[in-house]
Amino acid sequence: MIVVMKSHADLTDRDAVLARLAENNLKGHLSEGEERIVIGVVGAKIPAGLEEQLQSMSGVQTTLRITRPYKLAGREFQQHNTVIRVGDLEIGGGTPVIMAGPCSVESADQLLRTAHAVKEAGANILRGGAFKPRTSPYAFRGLGEEGLKILAQAREETGLPIITEALNTRDVELVARYTDIIQLGARNMQNFALLEEAGQTGKPIMVKRGPSATVEEWLLAAEYILATGNRNVILCERGIRTYETATRNTLDLNAVAVAKRRTHLPVIADPSHGTGKWYLVQPMALAGLAAGADGLMIEVHHDPDRASSDGPQSLNHLNFAQLMQQVRRLIAALEPELAVA
Ligand code: PEP
Ligand code: MN
Repeated sequence: MIVVMKSHADLTDRDAVLARLAENNLKGHLSEGEERIVIGVVGAKIPAGLEEQLQSMSGVQTTLRITRPYKLAGREFQQHNTVIRVGDLEIGGGTPVIMAGPCSVESADQLLRTAHAVKEAGANILRGGAFKPRTSPYAFRGLGEEGLKILAQAREETGLPIITEALNTRDVELVARYTDIIQLGARNMQNFALLEEAGQTGKPIMVKRGPSATVEEWLLAAEYILATGNRNVILCERGIRTYETATRNTLDLNAVAVAKRRTHLPVIADPSHGTGKWYLVQPMALAGLAAGADGLMIEVHHDPDRASSDGPQSLNHLNFAQLMQQVRRLIAALEPELAVA
């Protein structure tokens, strides 16, 4: 349920509604749009009669039932787009944001080379995994805290904010100490304890869609984080498992467009994991932006053939710079007022 406040309702009215919800073991989440304040009501069960009580309270215009299972993530609760601020950068603010960097942090030399190259080419955020989820336990699983330190050094040198994955609840606090955005990986999309633990840090969290998750399940994963009170949630479509074997995954651009309709949260497209092939990254990156994505996540390595993970889908520095030129041209074509030189 949402409680829509009258435009002239004051703080006392609002606080009275929040207090009434608390008395009923319910939590109120505020959404302050330009025209109206909405209180999203979240809790296990709304007691009989409460809705009528709320409707007659001072400053309340009406109550509405939210039909979707996710409450805070949906556009019913918040019509306007969520804009997430990371330093000076806005994610979801209209200008696409480009996250780029290697799949894994392998060494200081490797990460710094790529960090400078992606910065030079125009990326906005540096990515790199220090804790890697690998299908085989014998594959390279990341440098751990050493990798986080290298990421922090790269941020220092380039000024780019960083995004890196937390693999389990044990690592959340450590990862949060170093990173600007916590990435939760596709395989962990329904690790509900991890979603909550990461949410409680208050940091921006990017949730990658599980390889077999429906859009609704993906938005419910975001809902877990929003329900902790953390509003800084980003979604990332990274391809799903289908019968198709020509590509590693099937980048589901329908899901990008569906998610943009259903949720106010920013949506990022990841054509690297979505295709698994470096030569498919460019067309699918442009397609992702054309489908309405708020940004891209692109894997870049100075020597993809020698990468410790995901080399076949990584762009080299030159190809990334070329992609960025095309991205700029596409942005200019889609939204001339957002074009950057
Ligand atoms: C990654 O971003 O390198 C990664 C492991 O992604 P995903 O969780 O989408 O597989
Ligand atoms: Mn990867």
